Amino acid sequence: MKKRRPLIAGNWKMNGNKDLTASLAGGLSLHYIQYKGDDKRPFDMLICPPYPYIPLAVEISGDSGLLVGAQDCSRTTNGAHTGDVSASMLKEIGASWVILGHSERRSDHAESSTLVREKAKLAIDTGLNVIICVGETEAQKDAGETLEIIKGQLVGSLPENATHKNTVIAYEPVWAIGTGKVPTLADIAQVHTFIRSLLADICGQESADKFRILYGGSVKPSNASSILNVDNVDGALVGGASLKVEDFWDIAMGSI
Ligand code: PEP
Repeated sequence: MKKRRPLIAGNWKMNGNKDLTASLAGGLSLHYIQYKGDDKRPFDMLICPPYPYIPLAVEISGDSGLLVGAQDCSRTTNGAHTGDVSASMLKEIGASWVILGHSERRSDHAESSTLVREKAKLAIDTGLNVIICVGETEAQKDAGETLEIIKGQLVGSLPENATHKNTVIAYEPVWAIGTGKVPTLADIAQVHTFIRSLLADICGQESADKFRILYGGSVKPSNASSILNVDNVDGALVGGASLKVEDFWDIAMGSI
């Protein structure tokens, strides 16, 4: 087994309905339940549906071990913030994880790393686990700025209460999300090694070695195993392919 237990996380984005939630959560639970009670589970599996479907996903996942999370949360606890959802609300409806700083939030909602850090700090204080996303655009990659961008986003987004127990980093090159394009394995290895070295600068090598660093961007059953076997890749954040039970399960199988 890998040094760090892989996390296979599904980001449904704004997709799905009650039927799809029931069939995805139900189908994945049926697969995952084989590891029930096994503290040597080969991987953790997380699904992140849109807010309205979280309670149904939680209910259907039951005690299978399948984890349920959200795709964002507010930087504040409550009050006059129309349309926002707080970490404590997510916790109350059974979510245990939240994705923060996804590139679609950084671009569609102009979310800064400072905002992501505030959200992450509160989410962790509330008892949620967080996935903090970082990644360069195609233009930044072409300009040779990848590592600089990753450093700025990671250092800017990671709150002081982040530990390997409550925080996972996801490297998601923006140009690879939903495009079918994937970096070379060498490029993935370089960025993941770099992220671990940044974590070591921030919290020391021993702690950095325990953090999980996911890769995200056009992960499919056909490329999952090679990507998941790259050094310092501790799982995957999956968009499109997380919307089909067998594809998502096959991706997870690529981690073992
Ligand atoms: C994502 O949205 O986080 C993602 C990785 O999407 P896809 O797998 O579809 O590229």
